[in-house]
Amino acid sequence: MVFNLILFGPPAAGKGTQAKRLVTDCGFVQLSTGDMLRAARKSGSELGKRVAGIMDSGALVSDEVVIALIEEQLAEHKSAAGFIFDGFPRTVAQAVALDSMLAKRGQAVDSVIRLVVEDEAILTRIGKRFEQEGRKDDNPATFAKRLAAYNEQTAPLLPFYTAQGKLNEVNGMVSIETVSKQIDRVLGAHKTGRA
Ligand code: AMP
Repeated sequence: MVFNLILFGPPAAGKGTQAKRLVTDCGFVQLSTGDMLRAARKSGSELGKRVAGIMDSGALVSDEVVIALIEEQLAEHKSAAGFIFDGFPRTVAQAVALDSMLAKRGQAVDSVIRLVVEDEAILTRIGKRFEQEGRKDDNPATFAKRLAAYNEQTAPLLPFYTAQGKLNEVNGMVSIETVSKQIDRVLGAHKTGRA
């Protein structure tokens, strides 16, 4: 059975770090729409040009664009043991589309893990990431807009997945190792049918 995990949380919650670790540990495929969009920009494709301004403003690109990217990747990795959705879905419309894309394949979202991090800690992390990586959309003004987009458009997914009985929360304010352990516990419980 293919395992479909959503890593959920605001920007800089640690989703990318954990997704990469799970790729190594479990052989899952990481599907990060942010990474896909940045790659499109780097390649100079039409799509990249279309989304550049929106990304730099801190707003979300259209549901249609990211849903198409995910659809493409699901088709490309037919024999994957599992997928880690990182930064997708970010709106209720995307979540509904994901449910139907997976249902078409006889699959479903198996688990949603929310990394819970306080706003203040996020701002500290992002300040450091901006200094180290220089990502344009990590600058303070744009980041404030990304956080607002999360609170307004993405946070409503929490009741969506709670209603489906799929939401698990882990403390994202502790060390990477401790976050990893908490996630592994949720995934282990899933395997043994306790989650
Ligand atoms: P991220 O690296 O996941 O924070 O994504 C960087 C930017 O890409 C976001 O601020 C959005 O502009 C865009 N983006 C990434 N994923 C999505 C998504 N699922 N829906 C809409 N926009 C997205």
